[in-house]
Amino acid sequence: FFFVFVMRWLSSKEPDRRQAAVVLGAGVVGIAAAYELQKEGYTVTVIDRQPEAASECSFSNGGHRNFHFNPSIAVPGTPREFLRSWVSPESTIFLPYSTRWCTLLWDPDFWQWALRLVPNFSARKVQRNSEAGTQLIRYSQQRTAIIQEQHLTVGKVWEWEGSTAVCTEPVPPDKIYKENEVLLSKEETLQREPCLAYLDAIKPIYGSIVSNRCFTQDCRKFTSSLESVCKALGLVTMYNTKVTGLSFADTGHEHLHQHEQHKADRKQVATVHTDCGDVQADVVVVALGAYTPKFLQPYTKICVPIYPVRGYAVEMPITPQASANNEVLRTGTLHYSRGFGVHRFDDVLRVSGLAELRGWDTSVNRDLVIDLFRKRLKTFCGLDLDHVSGGVQNVKTWCGLRPVTPDNLPMIGQIPGYSNLFICSGHSFHGWALACGSARILADIIARRNPEIDATPFDPRRFRHWW
Ligand SMILES: Cc1cc2nc3c(=O)[nH]c(=O)nc-3n(C[C@H](O)[C@H](O)[C@H](O)COP(=O)(O)OP(=O)(O)OC[C@H]3O[C@@H](n4cnc5c(N)ncnc54)[C@H](O)[C@@H]3O)c2cc1C
Repeated sequence: FFFVFVMRWLSSKEPDRRQAAVVLGAGVVGIAAAYELQKEGYTVTVIDRQPEAASECSFSNGGHRNFHFNPSIAVPGTPREFLRSWVSPESTIFLPYSTRWCTLLWDPDFWQWALRLVPNFSARKVQRNSEAGTQLIRYSQQRTAIIQEQHLTVGKVWEWEGSTAVCTEPVPPDKIYKENEVLLSKEETLQREPCLAYLDAIKPIYGSIVSNRCFTQDCRKFTSSLESVCKALGLVTMYNTKVTGLSFADTGHEHLHQHEQHKADRKQVATVHTDCGDVQADVVVVALGAYTPKFLQPYTKICVPIYPVRGYAVEMPITPQASANNEVLRTGTLHYSRGFGVHRFDDVLRVSGLAELRGWDTSVNRDLVIDLFRKRLKTFCGLDLDHVSGGVQNVKTWCGLRPVTPDNLPMIGQIPGYSNLFICSGHSFHGWALACGSARILADIIARRNPEIDATPFDPRRFRHWW
């Protein structure tokens, strides 16, 4: 009896083993998820094949965190814009002639995605998706602000106050977030950003949605500083490590009673396999961006229609002369309906946008990209790329694969058939703006709490296989 008592006492002295969460992918979404899971008390490990966080799509994106959500590709104008791209070099949505039709035609992942995209062109679906996206963006803004209040250093580097979304068509009043945004008339817009007179001369502008509390912020710098906060809280990072697969625990379900048989349908992930060894996990979150469906394909019966839509950015230092002459835009400025943006970070100008379907190819034709942005900068705000940058040798080019879903909304939640496998991916054109809100929703779902906003539009089960 004494022996049993001592053993019980000793075991009660052992600290509870904290649950281990493994996050696959260290983009902005993966790191935000890691942060929220640490707050829930998990010991978190993040695995990524790159040498550091935010090295793929979160590396050099537009940095725009608007209060409004523009579905960008799941809109009625997309088919027209697509056709236009074959005849007009000014098209913004698809790069002319670059889509490799032969490759796309034989790509089942493309068809799985494209055929689900078409129903989302209807006005009713656009309205529904916009509302859900806008709600998530606003929630995400609040969550990002909370993180930044708690950890003052997070993302304060390369933050540029104020944003201007230029509209060439009337804006419905419900698109304005009254707390933080105002709608400026055309005259007021041109007063705020005189450079936009060039765009007005080509396509008359209606006005702009502006916000002085909305920042343009460098996504990579935010992600790395949030990662440092997580590391201080005990985050383990495994970089240069490729995730190769999952294996499952023997859950002993063969001994279940009849009324518990539903549990037998749920597998439990026990181990994450990587090219650097195995990692044990109590909870696994898949945040692999555009690579999520390829990874999940062998394991899940649900359809994960996330397809890579390539986007480009060019980044250049603003010459002191251009800065002194006030030639560059003063705020991060976005073409509201075209998803084309010019973003200013201190003395650096980044221009981003375009959408191209080219599978998982990430090669960049530097001259072509510089040329495309040179033309767009000129017509958007009259900027001369060569003059502002002091020569093309100073211009950096980049391309990223946006993880785009057919409705442009992310997939957040538990993967059916598994008790501990979760997805947080498919953030499409707004991953930076949506990351912190999505991560909080995910943490609430994992903790079996109701998220603070309605998460049904982001349910991973919303896409069904047709076969
Ligand atoms: C040109 C452009 C401009 C944009 N502008 C904006 C903007 O202004 N505002 C905004 O909100 N959003 C913008 N976006 C979208 C935003 O960048 C993305 O939605 C976001 O970065 C997606 O983040 P993620 O973490 O899901 O994916 P990623 O950042 O791609 O992270 C996924 C990670 O998974 C890793 N990975 C993949 N496979 C494996 C594997 N097998 N093993 C290990 N690791 C793996 C990758 O290395 C990567 O680090 C823009 C995108 C582009 C391309």
